Amino acid sequence: MAAKKCFFGIKTDRQVDGDKMNRLFLDQVLAEGGENAAIAACMQCGTCSGGCTNADLMDLLPRSLVLMVQRGEWEKVLNSNSLWLCTSCQICTSRCPRGVQPADVIEAVKAIAIRQGINNDSTRFNQIFVELIKKRGILFEPELMQKYGGIEAMLAQVKLGMKLAFKGKLSPLPAKVQEPEKFNQALTKAEQK
Ligand code: SF4
Ligand code: SF4
Repeated sequence: MAAKKCFFGIKTDRQVDGDKMNRLFLDQVLAEGGENAAIAACMQCGTCSGGCTNADLMDLLPRSLVLMVQRGEWEKVLNSNSLWLCTSCQICTSRCPRGVQPADVIEAVKAIAIRQGINNDSTRFNQIFVELIKKRGILFEPELMQKYGGIEAMLAQVKLGMKLAFKGKLSPLPAKVQEPEKFNQALTKAEQK
């Protein structure tokens, strides 16, 4: 589709601006799970950004992120901290008046970023989290804290940890899943997808 132009020749339709379009990136996002996210339907109303629970920390709000994916502005999107700050709460998706699923768009972009070997504090946290889940089948929070933040992080949280343990919210000893074989089978299946 040709981009619309105003009377002196400047393109006015931002979403089909051929000069900024990198179809390859958009195709990658679609292939990574964004095919049902209705990316093209975004009308830039900003409702998603208005409800985002972590918007104040993000460098790209969901509205901008969807626009950049439409345009194929891969560099900004792949380096955005929003990928790692999104909590997948789905508020953006549930409020979108056009049926766009920004949360799924972010998940798809995140998968591309991980495949491309992007390393940061969040990817390190995710790696440790997955390793521990594979090891025990269930998370033992103090172990996660020690591996991620070291002994200082653990000491800083001792008071809170004790409070949680007294209220039965945190076990002082590692738990185990009931059927580790079944759990491992499910994990292997998920990894093959
Ligand atoms: S709420 Fe939907 S249509 Fe509006 S900016 Fe966000 S994704 Fe686009
Ligand atoms: S799913 Fe992510 S982007 Fe959407 S509202 Fe929640 S934190 Fe924000």
